[in-house]
Amino acid sequence: MLIRLSVVNLLKISKDITYRNMHLLVSNKAFVNGEWVEAKSKDTFDVVNPAEGCVVGKVPNMSVEDVELAIKAANEAFECWKHTTNKERSVLLRNWYNLLNDNVEELAKIMTLESGKPLIESRVEANYGNGYIEYFSEIARSINGEIIPSSIKTKQYFVTKQPIGVAAFITPWNFPHAMIARKAGAALAAGCTCIVKPAEDTPLTALALANLAYEAGIPKGVFNVVTSDRKKVNKVGELLCTSPDIAGVSFTGSTEVGKLLYKMCSTGIKRIGLELGGNAPFIIFSSANIDKAVTGAMQSKFRNCGQTCVSANRFLIQDDIFDEFISKFKDAISKLVIGNGLNETTTIGPLINKQQFNKVEAFVNDAVDKGAKVIIGGSSSDQGELYYTPTLLTDIKPNMKLYTEEVFGPVAACIRFRTEEEAIQIANSTRRGLASYFYSENYRQIFRVAKEIESGMVGVNEGIISAAEAPFGGVKESGIGREGSHHGIDEYVYIKYTCFGNLD
Ligand code: ADP
Repeated sequence: MLIRLSVVNLLKISKDITYRNMHLLVSNKAFVNGEWVEAKSKDTFDVVNPAEGCVVGKVPNMSVEDVELAIKAANEAFECWKHTTNKERSVLLRNWYNLLNDNVEELAKIMTLESGKPLIESRVEANYGNGYIEYFSEIARSINGEIIPSSIKTKQYFVTKQPIGVAAFITPWNFPHAMIARKAGAALAAGCTCIVKPAEDTPLTALALANLAYEAGIPKGVFNVVTSDRKKVNKVGELLCTSPDIAGVSFTGSTEVGKLLYKMCSTGIKRIGLELGGNAPFIIFSSANIDKAVTGAMQSKFRNCGQTCVSANRFLIQDDIFDEFISKFKDAISKLVIGNGLNETTTIGPLINKQQFNKVEAFVNDAVDKGAKVIIGGSSSDQGELYYTPTLLTDIKPNMKLYTEEVFGPVAACIRFRTEEEAIQIANSTRRGLASYFYSENYRQIFRVAKEIESGMVGVNEGIISAAEAPFGGVKESGIGREGSHHGIDEYVYIKYTCFGNLD
């Protein structure tokens, strides 16, 4: 059934840009049990375009009582969904993927509107996110069990995988589509139903996904989206983590909130997946191909204005190639085009909100006060309130925030090192361990460093590592569990062992 409601026929985006017929841009409604719903209180909150500060939508500000209805609907839907065949789920996911694919351009525009990321990147994200739904539609049919040979003749041991139940997703604003698709694709393929609580900055993309999921034939109650602002999210988060009617929680976001949710989930020994912050080292060894390293550094650092959890946070550059790398890196940075993401030529958009802007500014000021050298950038931009100029800093030291914490902004912090041991020691001197990168043309070094580096994901001579087919996740305080790849299914299934006896 086609849901084409709340159509915005003419949307004035900015001084220059007007969109017509954004049929996926839902306004004033969330999606529960196959219906577009308001909050019981009728309360709403604004969705703001970070490029210009204008309101681009409103969504219901849902509280615990609203989310309880979504939990009920998802549990009722689970009773049917868990009995669907893997093939049926595969076909429905494929239908969803096809519709998502047909709507890449519109999904991209919605993402740029609410997150500020350049359109060219939003298109990449739409395809990347869609890829998870495609991938999980393909592997839904091979979620297999095992038969284990028994050492007792009269027994047989069967292992089957069963969906855990209702899964709740709490997702961030930096990838408004892909962080939902990565969780939902796996959960739905496994036979779980789900409730998505998107970031308050970017709920419109989540609602667009719901629109297409329902249109694809995914039954009511199987994919729900609830929206709440920052004030209500604490109570809603507590409900999702402590309700006995939620079987698992999957969260992508800050380490601080992740730790809180982990604690709350422990009261019910609830399944939890956490994709938290990183502090990614990006090492360039003497033997590296410098041009390739610069390309990788630009992709890893400046994609999404540096607002990704796998963004390079500390560049470690070997002494003898330091000046060459910095010079080429500076040239590449100076070519970035800062501006409204809706302009096709923009490569660096605004930061998501004032809080994020203040953090980036404070980190740079802290480093400069303590002796860091500004090679390029280092200040706000005249484009608007939330724009920060792409920045390159050298002489970064362990007492600076840029060394120890994730900046989540367009700031490249560079450290000089002499030996491989020193580089590994610096790279691993953090409680975070999500992504790491290094460039080297020495194959022995490549194997040594890839083994020694403490992170869940390693890019060797590569700055972009995420893919639907590959397991995404961290070690140490960067999280638990894996998303994407066939391992992503494990988060949403219980392994059931059945012993058949007296078979003589
Ligand atoms: P950021 O600071 O970058 O927005 P957060 O970790 O605070 O990162 O937010 C990521 C997601 O977690 C968002 O969907 C946000 O609404 C949600 N969130 C924030 N605080 C809580 C909380 N106390 N309980 C549940 N969800 C929360």
